[in-house]
Amino acid sequence: MEYPGNLFVVAAPSGAGKSSLVKALLELDAKLAVSISHTSRAPRGQEQHGREYWFISPDEFRAMAERGEFFEWAEVHGNLYGTSRSAIEARMAHGEDVVLEIDFQGALQIKQLFPYAVLVFILPPSWEELEQRLNRRGDTQPEVIAKRMANARVEVAQAQSFDFVVVNAVFETALFDLKAIVHAQRLKYAAQRRNRSAVFRALDLP
Ligand code: 5GP
Repeated sequence: MEYPGNLFVVAAPSGAGKSSLVKALLELDAKLAVSISHTSRAPRGQEQHGREYWFISPDEFRAMAERGEFFEWAEVHGNLYGTSRSAIEARMAHGEDVVLEIDFQGALQIKQLFPYAVLVFILPPSWEELEQRLNRRGDTQPEVIAKRMANARVEVAQAQSFDFVVVNAVFETALFDLKAIVHAQRLKYAAQRRNRSAVFRALDLP
């Protein structure tokens, strides 16, 4: 598929602040849209079908995977998650920018499929701070926190395969960093040639 837009993939261990950062980024940038994933886990709190996720059964999920309907999928914390082709193909067909907020396994699969995808890893400033943030969420059991911390060590070890790293110590600084990454992508030659075609023509640039 010819896709001249930008594909941003944001991953992080749980508690690093990924969802809040991506949400704030989307509010600031009308040209970015997030892909809504499918998951086999049950909705939490106020989550709605078709807003945070498409909530489906494990059997439905596996059937979709067998039919090749996902660009990528992975098991995360015992549940299945996937980026369906239909979630982003329409936007990609129009060359629009897309953000995937997925785990590192999915991010690495996307990089294989779309080598130009921009992979961003969000790090917590320390293990202690990550644990405190998980505790502050309030709704998690000690054994769940211990499991998330163990998973976080595996996840953080993958940061070196990513293109960019943002440390979320101060939210506003991390948001600034994320915006800078998006902005820099849009200043690349190919993107500028597309977006500033009149200038490029006027300057006889190929
Ligand atoms: P949660 O259940 O807390 O919403 O998400 C758990 C983890 O699954 C997070 O790291 C989240 O980014 C990841 N995730 C959400 N959607 C997808 C997806 O479509 N594919 C993959 N590989 N991971 C996902």
